[in-house]
Amino acid sequence: MADNVQIETVPSIQVREMWERQQPIFARIYREGIAAVVQSMPDAAKLFRSSTCIIKCIDEGVPGDGLHMAGSGILRSSEAVRDMVQKANAEGVTSHTGCGAAQLLFTETYGHAPTPGELDAFAEEKARAIAGLCGIPYTGQIGVLSRPPELHIARIVYYVSSADFDHTVGNILPPGFTVSRRYMGLEDALDETALGVNIAFGHHGFGDLISADAPFVLCAVGDPTDPNLGEDQLRKELKAVQEQFPQGRVIIDGFNAPPPVS
Ligand SMILES: [Zn+2]
Repeated sequence: MADNVQIETVPSIQVREMWERQQPIFARIYREGIAAVVQSMPDAAKLFRSSTCIIKCIDEGVPGDGLHMAGSGILRSSEAVRDMVQKANAEGVTSHTGCGAAQLLFTETYGHAPTPGELDAFAEEKARAIAGLCGIPYTGQIGVLSRPPELHIARIVYYVSSADFDHTVGNILPPGFTVSRRYMGLEDALDETALGVNIAFGHHGFGDLISADAPFVLCAVGDPTDPNLGEDQLRKELKAVQEQFPQGRVIIDGFNAPPPVS
């Protein structure tokens, strides 16, 4: 019984409501493909805006452009993080409250789950360590998420060839995890993508609502000017994640970034 009580952190009616809210856009994505959705957006090019590159979590609660790594990089090796920061020219590191990646690492480290206070302190401590490692500033803990604090509402991972992608622009594309494939090694990027799917399938996500009838989407966001990071290449890479889950429950979709606005 205790277990059941523990996982009922969000009333099921709220979960259902958050799910239903996304049904129209997902119905369209399943029917037409996400490329058609993006092509119909008048300001699609604005989905790719470059600004100061800040490190953020992959969490759908902290969307926007930037270098996205789970827990701002706390699951990656020091070498990998330094390499990514250098390539992306990142200028700061954030953390956020209620971080699933920090929860994972805390539990692995201490053998028990953290309290909410311990979790947020841990996420900050680890992000500060990454800032120190890379010689860039820690720019603070994001305390207000664009999702309910106890619920992951993502049904999609954006697997992105750029650090400029912001799926919230135009308010058309659904909320999703963002994995910055351009700067991340293949194995790490696939690992972070699978983490997003596992969160969505778990007790803090939509869980069993995601099915072959309403599958999770792995979305390749390609760079058509780079043969290594085009949509087709990224789709091929994502197959390794799709295969980890029951058939039909995860699909691959994608689009190439439109030409930049001149
Ligand atoms: Zn996080």
